[in-house]
Amino acid sequence: MKIGFIGLGNMGAPMARNLAAAGHDVTGHDLQPVEIEGVAPAANLAAVARERDVIFTMLPNGAAVREVHAAVIEHAKRGACLIDCSTIDVQSARDSAEAAEAAGFHALDAPVSGGTGGAQAGTLTFMVGGPDAAFEIGQPLFDVMGARAIHCGGAGSGQIAKTCNNMILGATMVAVCESFALGSKLGLDPKALFNVVSTSSAQCWSINTYCPVPDIGPKTPADAGYAPGFAAELMLKDMRLSQEAAHMAGAQTDLSDHATEIYRSFVETGGEGLDFSGLYLRIRDTSRG
Ligand code: NAD
Repeated sequence: MKIGFIGLGNMGAPMARNLAAAGHDVTGHDLQPVEIEGVAPAANLAAVARERDVIFTMLPNGAAVREVHAAVIEHAKRGACLIDCSTIDVQSARDSAEAAEAAGFHALDAPVSGGTGGAQAGTLTFMVGGPDAAFEIGQPLFDVMGARAIHCGGAGSGQIAKTCNNMILGATMVAVCESFALGSKLGLDPKALFNVVSTSSAQCWSINTYCPVPDIGPKTPADAGYAPGFAAELMLKDMRLSQEAAHMAGAQTDLSDHATEIYRSFVETGGEGLDFSGLYLRIRDTSRG
């Protein structure tokens, strides 16, 4: 398939490389010069979009996706499929899909989980929103870059699933950090606490797979000085997107709203660049006022 890939950063570069390695004809474009094995560099958006069957975007935010999609629509051939894998706000995803479809294109929102490790290994999970016909075009490409693709519904539903998932993740990580800090302050061995909570009703990904306490459970960023992993500022971005969606929908999300505030404070006072689970040390070393 002829594929254009726009946004070749930490995630986009390995995704584009995996598509090329699977035998697809891939051109790539980024604001920064980037060299990727098997991917032909395109100097601008017109060059990356022209004559392509599928055009992926993997960009920082909704404004970038809106801007890039507007240019792609001008230059791509009608009938091409625009697949946005960025994590962006639900409204931008819906608007971009509507504009693309009105101009005669297929469109999907297909944000991912699995991080840079999953992008490199080709084991991402895609959460996909858009019509069945567009999903059928994207599916074989999701299979190359990921372990699974879940079709969640119409335009924007991939972003909705992603924001709900990360809202749970952000809030549970705060709760896990608080529980281990409390246990430690009360003199409980964190290994004993892990053995209990990882096999009891509190078990969750933030405990069992990504425990924020060093030397406990499987290897995690906590065992490597909290090098990300998933950086605290990216978690803050995702929590803010979830709260933006909650405002839009009129949904009450008090716990996640407070968790967002906790990540904001962490990021602004030294947490930037650390894994989001580094919040554990901050909570452990802070005393109740
Ligand atoms: P990144 O900053 O490494 O890459 C983004 C790239 O987009 C950059 O190289 C930038 O130069 C390029 N770019 C920005 N505007 C552009 C434009 N107008 N035209 C062309 N290129 C442009 O970010 P990333 O970590 O690769 O993340 C990309 C997206 O994936 C984000 O939405 C992020 O939230 C999401 N995401 C990231 C992770 C992760 O672990 N890094 C995990 C899941 C989802």
